[in-house]
Amino acid sequence: MAFKLFKDGNDLYEDAKELLKRGEYEKARNVFQKSIDKDGGVDDVAAIKIALIDLRTRLTDPSAYGRVRTAISNSTATEFEFGLVTVSCADLDRECELTKRKLELLGTSDKRTRAEGLQEVAVRFQSEIGDRNLIVLELFRNDSTVTGMTEFFNLMATSYETLSDLTVWDDPQKAAEYEQIAAGYRQQNGQSGDANLERIRSYARTCKCWICGRIATGEGIHFFSAPSEVSPCLDDGTGGVGKSKPEGTTHIYICRACYSAVSNRSDEISRKYYNDSIAEIRRTEARLQAEIAALQSQISMLRMSR
Ligand SMILES: [Zn+2]
Repeated sequence: MAFKLFKDGNDLYEDAKELLKRGEYEKARNVFQKSIDKDGGVDDVAAIKIALIDLRTRLTDPSAYGRVRTAISNSTATEFEFGLVTVSCADLDRECELTKRKLELLGTSDKRTRAEGLQEVAVRFQSEIGDRNLIVLELFRNDSTVTGMTEFFNLMATSYETLSDLTVWDDPQKAAEYEQIAAGYRQQNGQSGDANLERIRSYARTCKCWICGRIATGEGIHFFSAPSEVSPCLDDGTGGVGKSKPEGTTHIYICRACYSAVSNRSDEISRKYYNDSIAEIRRTEARLQAEIAALQSQISMLRMSR
């Protein structure tokens, strides 16, 4: 074999593959880049590997998935080796497309768009990836438990939780139904669904406001339990449609209207006290500054007269 003084693009590419097998991602990335600079082009399979290595530390950034897709579309390869794993370009492209869409939807503030979009993505994870595990998580997290199906269950649950969140202001009963569906998806995915069940219980709970006597449904949304001093003669165990206080506690139930009126008024009072205190501090500060200035001038007068 002839001794080569300089490595060509192929040598560099082989070196980078070895580094990748050893899990030395950043070094591998540099050498892949050198191999492209030397002999390759943007259509190089090395460009896909570079985009994948960059994705490794940015798994929640949609644009990083977009760059992997661009590199795949520029290449004619149908599969490639990444470390010890052979990756199908078509499978990776589909996974990146769906994950990118999922992250964009999870980041959107429009809850209706998020809820509806997540169901579409969920169904595509189910039908297009199914029981196969996600490539990116297996490569970088060594996690082969996340599959198209687990993504389906998770995203469906998240979608119904978003719908519940969207509805609870107007219709706590409907919101509780959405939470029930979400709990079903979570349980099918091996999760407890306890948080959903707790919200169902809260949304279905009804009270009679201690202050105004109105009936309100949906704890934490339309009424709250607030600490209060309820003396025994006041605690008549008021029953009826809803209770005015949780049993055996020193709390009372207050509807949102009464609660917000009380807390807004108390905010106003606190703000006034705060402003008064700040004004007093400023006055004291100015007085002390004046006294310091007077003392300083007395000191310099004394120095001069020595
Ligand atoms: Zn009330």
